[in-house]
Amino acid sequence: MKSPRSLVLITVDCLRADHAGFLGYERPTTPFLDSLAAEGLIFSNAIVAGAPTYFSFPAVMASRYPLSLGRDVVGLAPGEPTIATALNDVGHATAAFLAANPYLSPRFGYDAGFSVFKDFLDSESAPVTEISDRGRDATPLNRWNRRLAKVSHALGPVGMLYDELYFQYCQRLASAPALSLDQLRRFPAADVMVDHARDWLTGIRGQPFFLWLHLMDPHSPYYPRREALEMMGQHSPDAPRARYLNSYWNRGDLGTSRLQRHRKDVMALYDAGIRWVDAQVARLVETLRGLGVWENCVMALTADHGEEFLDHGGRYHPPSRVSEELVRVPLLLRAPGLTPGTVAAPFSLLHLAPTLLELVEAPVPGSFRGSSHAGPLAAGKSGESDAVVECISGCKNPFVVEDRLHARLLAVREARFKLVLDFNSPTKQEQLYDLDSDPGERRPLLPGAEKLVRRRLLDRARQHISDSVQSRDAGYRLSARLRDLRLATAMSAPSVGPPPLPLRLK
Ligand SMILES: [Zn+2]
Repeated sequence: MKSPRSLVLITVDCLRADHAGFLGYERPTTPFLDSLAAEGLIFSNAIVAGAPTYFSFPAVMASRYPLSLGRDVVGLAPGEPTIATALNDVGHATAAFLAANPYLSPRFGYDAGFSVFKDFLDSESAPVTEISDRGRDATPLNRWNRRLAKVSHALGPVGMLYDELYFQYCQRLASAPALSLDQLRRFPAADVMVDHARDWLTGIRGQPFFLWLHLMDPHSPYYPRREALEMMGQHSPDAPRARYLNSYWNRGDLGTSRLQRHRKDVMALYDAGIRWVDAQVARLVETLRGLGVWENCVMALTADHGEEFLDHGGRYHPPSRVSEELVRVPLLLRAPGLTPGTVAAPFSLLHLAPTLLELVEAPVPGSFRGSSHAGPLAAGKSGESDAVVECISGCKNPFVVEDRLHARLLAVREARFKLVLDFNSPTKQEQLYDLDSDPGERRPLLPGAEKLVRRRLLDRARQHISDSVQSRDAGYRLSARLRDLRLATAMSAPSVGPPPLPLRLK
């Protein structure tokens, strides 16, 4: 009898598509993944359903658009089916090792369906304390500094000079102790996740399984393993230098032109994070081969969103734009029987979960909004013609209710055209880009241009919002609201009532 297939899902935080070697990046960030890509499927236009993490993962794990339960619901709802619950239901062993992203925690429902769930959000992964604003404010000198900063900012260029001098002063102070990159790193590195995965895989030997790894190595602050810098063949910056670069990059008082000065160096640190992911995925695959389970294993590697390096004047990945460096991610799929190749059509990550379940021959939950592409992919066809991305404009902290109630930011991405709707901006509410002639999304088309295209994409956006409201599951929505209110009241009052039951109102 044929044994059930296993599934490995690797999600890498902040990994933009154009920094993967198998998608054309010129630096050697992914030599192992490039070799894996040669025997698998590469999606050159995989598009997230939302960004950042908290707006992306509902689609990855539960095949649902992030705002479809209401913009006040973040994460998965209690009782909502996911890849993990579906595979747990059919008897797979399930484990998740997630490198301390606070949005991928039981608080947001991501432990559902996992028998082993380790999110590393405990003391062992606590970051080394850096000189923070709060720390600086603690001394009379720094209180004085803050007052001086306020006054000097009113004086224009003098304010800028003050910022510069104060930054340099802090750096000299901060770089005094001989810290290592390992001490400065905020998140556990990929080798820690793979070590745990290897132990677990060895322990469940013989059982079909679902393993989910979430790796944070390319996430800011950028403190890669020293070995990864060496693998990239570059001069290794010491810890004070890496700290200087991270602090400089984080400055809020500098314009784009001054930030450009260190852009390349900061990006080199980011790239080394990707290189470390690559090396650790190689270790994981070696383990799977050693255990004799690789041949019967489906593996997908993707990201929850990209990262900006001043492409449009910004840094990191705030939900203030849905440009390609933020929403286009690598997707590498390896499954027995899939013909190697490249899928160039836009592929929404909404379809990833049902596709993976079909590839491991498990039932797809009826609540999944995406559809499996396993059949067309096996037949060498791609099929999907557009992808929708949605998030809440400027929602940097989903723990803050007001942040979650801002206007919607939405994009419809076709192979050539992309429509961006920002309901928050009176001047840039609707922008249409031709990615063939303008891949950098620098020049939105004039309002009168490409009227038929504009109409088609606007209609797709309207349809998306209408479907989103009409297909809303009241039971999941209420379960999630009850969970959030219970947590909110637990924080404000010492006594807590019984936990809410997952509701299924139909
Ligand atoms: Zn993320």
